[in-house]
Amino acid sequence: MATESIAPELVARLKDIVGPQGWVSDPADLDAYLLDQRGWYRGNTPLAVRPASTAQVAEVVRACSEAGVGIVPQGGNTGLVGGAVPDGQILLSLSRLNRVRALDAVDHTMTVEAGCVLADVQGAAAEAGLLFPLSLAAEGSCQLGGNLATNAGGTAVLRYGNARDLVLGLEVVLADGRVWNGLRRLRKDNTGYDLKHLFLGSEGTLGIITAAVLKLFPRPHHVCTAFVAVTGAEAAVRLLAACRAASGDDVSTFEYIDRNCLDLVLRHIPGTRDPLAERYAHYVLVELASSRAHDDLGTVLEGALERGYEKGHVLDAAIATSEARGRELWRLRETIPEAERADGAGIKHDISVPIARVPEFLERAREAALREIPSALVVVFGHLGDGNIHFNLNQPKDMSREAFMAHMPSINRTVMDIAVGMEGSFSAEHGVGQLKRADLERYKPPIEVALMRTLKRALDPRDILNSGKVI
Ligand code: FAD
Ligand code: ZN
Repeated sequence: MATESIAPELVARLKDIVGPQGWVSDPADLDAYLLDQRGWYRGNTPLAVRPASTAQVAEVVRACSEAGVGIVPQGGNTGLVGGAVPDGQILLSLSRLNRVRALDAVDHTMTVEAGCVLADVQGAAAEAGLLFPLSLAAEGSCQLGGNLATNAGGTAVLRYGNARDLVLGLEVVLADGRVWNGLRRLRKDNTGYDLKHLFLGSEGTLGIITAAVLKLFPRPHHVCTAFVAVTGAEAAVRLLAACRAASGDDVSTFEYIDRNCLDLVLRHIPGTRDPLAERYAHYVLVELASSRAHDDLGTVLEGALERGYEKGHVLDAAIATSEARGRELWRLRETIPEAERADGAGIKHDISVPIARVPEFLERAREAALREIPSALVVVFGHLGDGNIHFNLNQPKDMSREAFMAHMPSINRTVMDIAVGMEGSFSAEHGVGQLKRADLERYKPPIEVALMRTLKRALDPRDILNSGKVI
């Protein structure tokens, strides 16, 4: 859809709906809305609207629907698949819908608007002595609506599930501007189709999420973090099972990190240091967390690591003895993407396979990738506890950025083929957006693609919502 096809009357009507504070049309001010996080997609729009209430969102959508004009919803614009970038459509930013509407500490629920920044949602839960566990490196700028629309994962999925698992109810503006108020706080409600799950993970293609009822959890009082050198991915998977068993399933994080990641972080991130005296090839960041008043997670973790050592799975470990030391260990994991970027161009993947098959995946993917670019730096990290691996290649020093990136399509294909061939997914947590649309057609069984099209046609027959994304 071209920008010039949007009538000036519609633009005027939309400006009127949201009021003088609620729109942006100056090209310089629009810039931040139009470039995606990775700098791969630059979009265009005649107008960004920033409605301040669900009613305004509904009016905007109704006006666009009547005019047959498309809308692209946007949260914090931190998505990694170009899903929030408009191609001539009206951009609808949720950022002014940022109120916590209610919090019930007995119920362990909170009702939050879509434009709340994730860190603020976590903060509001913490203020009430509770935990909202969704956590990812972009939490200072991504918004709850974006998290739900992409069914975000992050580092606490192992214990608490994906974004989808943290939602009890939703409020959604439908493609024709009607509002579905499904803000129920029920833990049990078997009354037909569970409609919220249609919108969770639909990346703005089926409805615009304006608010949600979230599940809250007891806040952990004790946390024990360790940076552990293991003999390989197989040993890591076994250590995960051992830690789960030994701790009564109190493992809240289990992240794999290979040596190349650590080297990049030590080289590019100021103030970091190797927590262990010697170099090893494979590491995991393990965290146990408990809300019990008296708990000795350190002893539990030490015991599991000692048994791992005796079995030949564990080589060495640094257990954090203070909160500050724990944060230092976390920093080694969280700054990997930043260190990758600082080192050169990257060819990235966000795949998942069954946890037990991660070692086999890593071996096959590494071998296949290095066959194509023998000098590439293979950089592997990720949420091993969820079977979700970020299998990345970084630009070798002997190759130009252009020559290296020219391999991206074929390396992507090879790595995704391997993952999907092992009962895996070509996109574990980042979604489809526009980046992986062709992959969806290639890897999903035709019957699933057909069902998705049926749903899209039923809920958005005029193709108003985020047209050209996902499907
Ligand atoms: P946006 O980028 O604004 O939008 C994402 C998609 O959702 C778009 O298709 C958009 O149209 C749609 N959308 C946004 N808001 C709404 C709404 N209210 N209703 C309907 N549709 C909507 N992701 C993970 O899953 N796990 C990670 O660990 C992770 N780590 C990251 C680390 C970094 C440093 C960065 C930059 C990104 C990371 N991401 C991760 C990706 C991204 O942060 C998440 O996908 C996040 O949930 C997107 O939220 P957002 O508000 O920025 O959404
Ligand atoms: Zn991730």
